[in-house]
Amino acid sequence: MANLIDGKRISKEIKDELKEKVAKYKEEGTTISLAVIQVGNDPASSVYVGNKKKACEYIGIRSLSYELEENTSQEELLKLIAQLNEDASVNGILVQLPLPRQIDEKKVINAIDPKKDVDGFHPSSVGALVIGEKGYVSCTPAGIIQLLKRSNISIEGKECVVIGRSNIVGKPMSLLLLRENGTVTMAHSKTKNLKEVCKRADILIVAIGKPRFITSDYVKEGATVIDVGIHRNEENKLCGDVDFDDVSKIAGAITPVPGGVGPMTIAMLMNNCVESYLINQK
Ligand code: NAP
Repeated sequence: MANLIDGKRISKEIKDELKEKVAKYKEEGTTISLAVIQVGNDPASSVYVGNKKKACEYIGIRSLSYELEENTSQEELLKLIAQLNEDASVNGILVQLPLPRQIDEKKVINAIDPKKDVDGFHPSSVGALVIGEKGYVSCTPAGIIQLLKRSNISIEGKECVVIGRSNIVGKPMSLLLLRENGTVTMAHSKTKNLKEVCKRADILIVAIGKPRFITSDYVKEGATVIDVGIHRNEENKLCGDVDFDDVSKIAGAITPVPGGVGPMTIAMLMNNCVESYLINQK
């Protein structure tokens, strides 16, 4: 049976470390502020925003909440972002995605000052990652690196296969694994012989967006399997892109859903917020 990689425990560990750092900053007279913008009231987005605010409260980060109407225009949203960019008391800006149809997500992401881009989605942040410079890293892949490191799973020299090439998960994930000296293969919907490609992996990262797609036929014995997917199954219970019951019989280590990658995303957002204080000072 595979070892369980406990994202809940590791994310708590990171949040506690951040809490200490933030308390020290407070003693020095500095409060870190995160502006959280939600447009409309999509229920899933409201849950995510609520969780982010709770994490801020736990760590001691001040969260400034901007709840805009569903019919907010792109111009109104861009104006608010411009104001927050100028506001020296705001360290980080987060716009909850997806946005309503009338708003172009790319324009919004590009409008955020790269120094306040705590989601790590701005082209400058992505570019810094590509050329190996310091910058904000997309939270989910950054969290996966922490899961591996804090579970003593080394990446250097390992065969790493990432399934999925989205801008927020698959692509930055591959770059981070490369930065850690993994030998990285990126797989996607046009990849031929996916099973054979996946079976090469010592570390298999699954971000396909298809419930329980990856079964034990795709996994090498003893491999580490990281499941990024989040879905509701027929019984309305959360499940991932990996068939956990099947794969955990042959994997060496595996993340559960829930309690694996999910909690790490918020922990790394908080980490980026804390870093934003130092980045804004420069
Ligand atoms: P996405 O944008 O839908 O991308 C899915 C990727 O999977 C695409 O690159 C696609 O390839 C590839 N793919 C689809 N079907 C495939 C197949 N049959 N074989 C091989 N590759 C296939 O998804 P995402 O935003 O990266 O998210 C992936 C999953 O992670 C979703 O379930 C999402 O809800 C979850 N997620 C979780 C967190 C978290 O915090 N835990 C954060 C973000 C996302 P093409 O490019 O060729 O189409």
